[in-house]
Amino acid sequence: MNVLKKHCLKYIFFCVFILSCTVSAQEVSKTSGGNDFADDDRKQGSAISLEGNTYVLTVFTGNNQWEQKSIDNFFNTSNEAFAWLKREVSRYNKTITFTKGSYGTPDPIEYDIASGTGSGRESIDVVYNVMKKIGYSRPLDFVQWSKETMGCSNCFVIVVVDKPGRSYSMTYNNKYEKEKFFLEGVVVYTRYEDGSPLCAASIAHEICHLFGAEDLYENFKQTKENELVARKLYPNDIMLRTSCMINKLTIDEMTAWFVGLTDDEKEWYKDFLRFKEQK
Ligand SMILES: [Zn+2]
Repeated sequence: MNVLKKHCLKYIFFCVFILSCTVSAQEVSKTSGGNDFADDDRKQGSAISLEGNTYVLTVFTGNNQWEQKSIDNFFNTSNEAFAWLKREVSRYNKTITFTKGSYGTPDPIEYDIASGTGSGRESIDVVYNVMKKIGYSRPLDFVQWSKETMGCSNCFVIVVVDKPGRSYSMTYNNKYEKEKFFLEGVVVYTRYEDGSPLCAASIAHEICHLFGAEDLYENFKQTKENELVARKLYPNDIMLRTSCMINKLTIDEMTAWFVGLTDDEKEWYKDFLRFKEQK
């Protein structure tokens, strides 16, 4: 079973990434034992496998109208992330295409989202609330539309907040309330906490989480032992470290397995699902 996706019912996962962070609502085991990582578990939620037609809805939020320059800056950065993802996916002889839509320009969706701080208490129902404000009483209707009308096998939402903060992702587990959480998404802030502008690598990192990727650096969940292994084997993997020079980063073979780009499983992959004990 995908321990990431089933390990923790009662806790909001939080992990510090060098430049961004991830808060994921997760669930405790479905009680079947072991750390097996079945295909089924990778295929929960609206972002299933990092290939094929993928619908991306970008939603600009806030209380003030966005300047066109800020909108353009964000799209430039996210497009850099999409181009990188396409390139990395192609290295595994797969293709991914992104069909894009957006809401909230220049008048944003009025929703005051607090800065992600790494507290672990970030809101996990942002996607649900944003979709409701847009007019979807059922976010699942949007998922259905993306499949049936747009021909997409994956979809997710990028919620953009024009303030400093640590980005995070919200992944789905089938123990979760489907109506609220099936549609997966990320919250990204236009600036890091130190005021420096958001880099494409953070967007790509969070998107990879939606498709099942694990953090490879030590944090509240991942062990130092695993990080040391990752540093030797996959020193440039985007789940291990980040860089504003995204082209120095890769989706290495293990993360490729996590996100469904390859079935070529190495024996140590599941070691990365043996997390620190959750309390
Ligand atoms: Zn992460």
